[in-house]
Amino acid sequence: MSLLEVKDVNKSFGGLAALSNINLSVDEGTVHAIIGPNGAGKSTLLNVMIGLIEADSGTVEFDGRSLSNVSPHDIIQRGIARVFQTPQIFPELSLRENVAIAGLARRDGKFKMNALQSPRRTAEVYDAAEDLLEDMGLKDLVHEEAQHLSRGDKRRLELAICLAAEPRLLLLDEPTAGMSRHDTNQTIDLLKKLAERGTTKVVIEHDMHVVFSLAERISVLAQGQIIADGAPDEVRGDPKVEEAYLGG
Ligand code: ADP
Ligand code: MG
Repeated sequence: MSLLEVKDVNKSFGGLAALSNINLSVDEGTVHAIIGPNGAGKSTLLNVMIGLIEADSGTVEFDGRSLSNVSPHDIIQRGIARVFQTPQIFPELSLRENVAIAGLARRDGKFKMNALQSPRRTAEVYDAAEDLLEDMGLKDLVHEEAQHLSRGDKRRLELAICLAAEPRLLLLDEPTAGMSRHDTNQTIDLLKKLAERGTTKVVIEHDMHVVFSLAERISVLAQGQIIADGAPDEVRGDPKVEEAYLGG
């Protein structure tokens, strides 16, 4: 079943066609990668997918309902989470508090520093937060202030924050961008672990190799158009894809 449906989407910036006639469907429970060279339109497509950028024409439906004119709070409540390129965390709060606040945000519709002041709710959300942090390999750091984390651990915290909202759809824009080979491999392992949780995921990547081991379906974007779409094995051997990468 399709969870997210993009139909005939076009988006231009000035005279530049960033997206041309995009049709894409993300099936529930799958990991769907969108790859392509720099400037292909990947981030624009992701922003259109979550209603952050309004398309010039075409539609985006999540779970059968349109995403036009949806506020960021509604996005969270509808079950869509996005991993930002820059982590959105409260630096002076502990890891556990950061994750707990995100867990409460799903219900309240917004991230609030004072969300944890109701003791009735805290025990439960703290337990859930600690479980998630343990899954992310951050068990020993639950009481640490977020600002003291290494870059790789911040990425892990950010994923825990996203998962705390129990999203039905998780979107990641170049999760390994700027990372060393070592951190990239660790992140791939982490994403594979996440895949086991069954959350539907859209992963945007510039580096093809990151997604071939991760995704069940790959859409290739070049110059604003989808030039290939299928299982990793189908996409890998496609001459159009190689050309797009060599040319880009
Ligand atoms: P990718 O994420 O694949 O690298 P982007 O979606 O960021 O590509 O960009 C696609 C094209 O659209 C690029 O040529 C980029 O310069 C242009 N673009 C993206 N966002 C804007 C914007 N807000 N204003 C003008 N041009 C933009
Ligand atoms: Mg981008």
